[in-house]
Amino acid sequence: MLKAIFCGLLLFAVGALREAPARQRAASRDERPGRSQTAPAAARVLCALGSTASPYNAYLDQRPTGDAMELAGKVNAALLAMCRPNCPTLALFRNSTAANLMLIIDGARTKILYKPEFFTSAYDNYGDGGILALLAHEVGHAIDMTAPPSWMKSGWTPELRADAWAGCAFAKMNLGASALRAGLTTLSKYPSPAHPSWGVRLPALEAGYTQCGGTLSLWERAARSEDAK
Ligand SMILES: [Zn+2]
Repeated sequence: MLKAIFCGLLLFAVGALREAPARQRAASRDERPGRSQTAPAAARVLCALGSTASPYNAYLDQRPTGDAMELAGKVNAALLAMCRPNCPTLALFRNSTAANLMLIIDGARTKILYKPEFFTSAYDNYGDGGILALLAHEVGHAIDMTAPPSWMKSGWTPELRADAWAGCAFAKMNLGASALRAGLTTLSKYPSPAHPSWGVRLPALEAGYTQCGGTLSLWERAARSEDAK
């Protein structure tokens, strides 16, 4: 019964604002010398793009901006039908101590965290298509753990599988050529240390795109011009 309620909510922001005062008090207590400011030991990083100068501090999780939530909602709507009835429950936060973008399991919660400056700069450079691609990759990691599809190749690593999910989301969102190109460029520009080379990632993205109904000629146009960059 519980699963049936949650499966309609792939992504949502937990009541971060209501919890914020208590969290901030806890954070300032943690600033005393000798106290750890890092996330609880249970936090496990599943994917991280870029590195972070300071350790991730879960107390500084903030509600995402309306723009970020709107774009996350598009990814959510695109992939919901693909993971029902086993969609994961995700919380989206912005956090200045996060890596550029992270997917972590923190206690009982699976969280997508973004660094505000990173999203601002990715948006300035690549627009909606860039942010949609980044979010789709992270959501792809989470979905793949609960609803792995049979069409993925057995040898694909978690990173390639997340890319294939991102490609699937591009198709389901009906991205036009320029948004598609922007999405591919953004993914290639901001890999994680765990990502294989772009030449290996692009076929996985394409497989997800065509598997989910994308038009191959549109893909080829976007991917070709992306290569030329
Ligand atoms: Zn990843």
